Amino acid sequence: MNEVSTKRARCATCLRAQSACICQWITHVVPRAALLVLQHPLEVSNAKNSARLLHLSVVGSALAVGEVFDPAELDALLHADGRVPVLLYPDTPEDANLPASPPFEEMDAGKLRLVVLDATWRKSRKMLYLNPALQQLPRLALRDVAPSNYRIRKAHAPHQLSSLEAAALALAQLEGRGASFQPLLDAFEGFVEQQAAFVPHLNSD
Ligand SMILES: [Zn+2]
Repeated sequence: MNEVSTKRARCATCLRAQSACICQWITHVVPRAALLVLQHPLEVSNAKNSARLLHLSVVGSALAVGEVFDPAELDALLHADGRVPVLLYPDTPEDANLPASPPFEEMDAGKLRLVVLDATWRKSRKMLYLNPALQQLPRLALRDVAPSNYRIRKAHAPHQLSSLEAAALALAQLEGRGASFQPLLDAFEGFVEQQAAFVPHLNSD
């Protein structure tokens, strides 16, 4: 390997430059629910993006990048292992342009797959519009964004949760009492501090 390629070398795991590698924050958790992250292409190179750290931390999770997904491929991702997919999506008024989502029937987390859209609010809405299979999923909204047994970053308003935080809280919600993803949330704080150090103009959104 010559000097130039060494300087530009990327970490094969987190795909960031070696100098900005985030692998030290990977904290393995094994939720009972499966996790699928659908990442909007605009988020891939966003330094603040937490989806890859989420994917690397949650054992057995899948991450796919796209805005419009091939229906057959998306169907396979959603229903792998015969699990029932549920879309993490905020409680919003029914959208007249979309079919009503079916009700979410609570069941053992071991039978479920949490589907997380990693995108800005506008783009996640667009992903819903562009992928009919996502419209047909029951939706899960976070019941209580800051349950007393979780410590999440103070400066964060509920709607500003990162994908990692929202997914960790949703996985805990699906599993019920006793499930703790706090180690993952704690590691995430380190990730945030690292990004703040690298990006001086980091905004709080
Ligand atoms: Zn890395």
